[in-house]
Amino acid sequence: MWDSLQFRFGVSYILVIVGVLLLLNTYPLLASEDLVFRSKTATMQSGISVMINSLSGLDRLTEENVANAMAITQETTFSRIMVTDSAGLVLYDSRETGSVVGDYALFAEIVQALMGLDASSCTYQGGAFRSRAASPVLYQNQIIGAVYAYEYDTEQAALLSDLQSNLLRISAVTGAVVMVLSLILSKALTQKIGLLLTAIREVREGAYSHRAEIRGRDEIAQIGEEFNSLTDRLQTTETARRRFVSDASHELKTPLAAIRLLSDSILQTESIDLDTTREFVSDIGREAERLSRITEDLLRLTRLDNGILEPMTEVDVLPVLEQVMRMMSLVAQEKGVDLTYSAAEGCTVLATKDEIHQVIYNLTDNAVKYSAAGGFVQVSLALDEEQVVLTVADNGVGIPEADLPRIFERFYRVDKARSRAAGGTGLGLSIVSDTVKRRGGTVEAANRPDGGSLFTVRWPRLSRAEGGNSL
Ligand code: ADP
Repeated sequence: MWDSLQFRFGVSYILVIVGVLLLLNTYPLLASEDLVFRSKTATMQSGISVMINSLSGLDRLTEENVANAMAITQETTFSRIMVTDSAGLVLYDSRETGSVVGDYALFAEIVQALMGLDASSCTYQGGAFRSRAASPVLYQNQIIGAVYAYEYDTEQAALLSDLQSNLLRISAVTGAVVMVLSLILSKALTQKIGLLLTAIREVREGAYSHRAEIRGRDEIAQIGEEFNSLTDRLQTTETARRRFVSDASHELKTPLAAIRLLSDSILQTESIDLDTTREFVSDIGREAERLSRITEDLLRLTRLDNGILEPMTEVDVLPVLEQVMRMMSLVAQEKGVDLTYSAAEGCTVLATKDEIHQVIYNLTDNAVKYSAAGGFVQVSLALDEEQVVLTVADNGVGIPEADLPRIFERFYRVDKARSRAAGGTGLGLSIVSDTVKRRGGTVEAANRPDGGSLFTVRWPRLSRAEGGNSL
């Protein structure tokens, strides 16, 4: 529980609220109290100075002359007024019951006044303001006594306590509202995070179709959307991986089954003649060759998938093209297909010779494979602004429009039987596409208007200056 986000959010909200409410309940009260203290001190001081004025001119203070002077002054705002002589003996006390006339009143303020200072103090306690002040009475610069005043005020204290209880009420309501709101907010927040966590766990366990359904447009909802699109990609990759594994096993199973069947036939046929045995063994050899072609192609694709690339160098495409054409011309001749090519000089790209060879070979091999006797295959190599463009055109069977977008997929074939009969693995075009893309190029397939297909490969062209720098 201590580690949960909801708890931490809740506690921090509450701490902030408590802090704010404490401030709200103390600062205004302290400030108002201070204000009252100041005004009280000023009133007391001015009241006392009026009384001192009325005593001025007396060379000595006695009970009679002080009483006379006080009667004239008629100062009534104070709760108690006392006048003492220079020794602190009380000569006048406005309080009738409990009068201390004739006694010494050595209050702190009186002692200070008899020392020649103006003294005052104010306290707020038990619902009342208690203010005290005293000042010396002088005659020819001699201290002849002191005037002391005391005020007990409950009126302003009542105002202050009203303010206090109002603040308390406001604080209670605000605190309750904010706490409920923070509870709702933190719950909503942690609920969303909970949904996200559940989705992550589900997907981790392999439920790739699970989606995080988070409402709203806040950051967590955005994380949810990002997570969903990540899961989409994961699902697509996973589906492709499963299909690839199943297709690959199927492709490997077919030649293996044929080998098994052929070898069983040799073993189980009694008195099998030499010619039939030779024929079967040659079939076994052909199937084994197919197996090794498939595994070679699979390994090549795995290397491309893992990003294992040979270091690229500056490759002039023309000599590689000529080499492939020499190789393929025999195959084409055998099939009765007319293979021609045209090429421009200076077609240099950043790749490896093997990669270029593989791409030209796979495309030309396909073009010859899917052409009938009497057909033609035209290969051209040209420069187009910043690109090196290779096209392979034939007037063979062509590719149905619906299949065009899929022919670069692994093991995708338009006509499975035809491809197998021609010795195809269904991986040639995937290898072409992955190899070209890894070096920043593109490959497209199209049908020619007058029959047959057209493959176009574009590599970024390596200019002279670039070549010098990158090698
Ligand atoms: P395969 O080993 O079957 O040739 P590829 O990946 O090289 O595999 O090609 C995939 C499919 O695309 C082929 O099975 C074939 O149906 C089609 N295809 C490729 N090249 C051509 C072409 N030049 N003419 C007609 N169809 C082609």
